[in-house]
Amino acid sequence: MPPLIQVTHPRGIYLPEADLWLDPHFGVKRAFVSHAHSDHVGRHDLTFCSEITHQLMVVRKTVKKSGVVVSPKKREVFEWEGWELRLLPAGHITGSAMLHLTRKADGVTLLYTGDYKLRQGLSAERCELMQADTLIMETTFGLPKYRFPPAEAVIAQMLVFVRETLSDGGIPVLLGYSLGKAQEILCALRDAELPVMVHASVAQITEVLAPHLGALPKWRLFDAAEAAGHVLVFPPSAKIELPKMRMAMLSGWAIQPSAKYRYGVDVALPLSDHADHPELHETVEIVKPRRIYLVHGSTREFAAELRARGHDARALGAEDQLELSFSAH
Ligand SMILES: [Zn+2]
Repeated sequence: MPPLIQVTHPRGIYLPEADLWLDPHFGVKRAFVSHAHSDHVGRHDLTFCSEITHQLMVVRKTVKKSGVVVSPKKREVFEWEGWELRLLPAGHITGSAMLHLTRKADGVTLLYTGDYKLRQGLSAERCELMQADTLIMETTFGLPKYRFPPAEAVIAQMLVFVRETLSDGGIPVLLGYSLGKAQEILCALRDAELPVMVHASVAQITEVLAPHLGALPKWRLFDAAEAAGHVLVFPPSAKIELPKMRMAMLSGWAIQPSAKYRYGVDVALPLSDHADHPELHETVEIVKPRRIYLVHGSTREFAAELRARGHDARALGAEDQLELSFSAH
């Protein structure tokens, strides 16, 4: 059997044969950027990413001025130095992509998920997986206790919260990250026929993404003097103080029992843009990899679970250097 594509983790995920970094946090020569969340974006000489991610990086000023950005169309083969690259929808946020690589010399493949989810969201294309010999996957919610309720049920709860707050004469404030969650919230409000006001950072991102989101509710920029009667969409980091406001946090971490107290909100609703524990297992079943590397969150625990099921699985990252050097061959 031909050897697998080599994966190392010097300071981030690196494929030495292709001299390609995957979502490095610092500037490098050649990188793949899966999506535009700031914790994944550095400034690179050559960047592979989706067209939407490129647009977001320009708005967020995370593109190197002298750098080159290549945005292959999703699903199409892009030939590059003895490799075939394919960007596949990751289902995480608008524009998010996985990278599928084929080493042309022998047809050996690798799939890097980046952040992803298999559930169909409202603001991101449905994830599309492809078989690969090596799978590098994120395990943010890699413990068995992380199992999300159906998104429709969470959205229904969100709408009840919004309507009850408004009918009590209050101002409902929905908290979600400016990129990703905020657009998911706006899409969820599209049929509610309620006036919406958004924080400036949400407005900036939503303007860029609007052509890709379908119908959106009527929204305008936040104005405290006229906020009464509106649904507010704000990032969790923004400070807001209004009379009679009630806050709901939308996050996967809301499945933890104490979330509402930790976030200091009235309601915490588990709307996540990551795969939950059953989806992680489903991913492995679909991709059928010979080897699995895990990044983010519960990497060690999920690796142990996969090994118990007979997979060659290892946690990838600085905290796992011992395990990595033991298994490197
Ligand atoms: Zn992300």
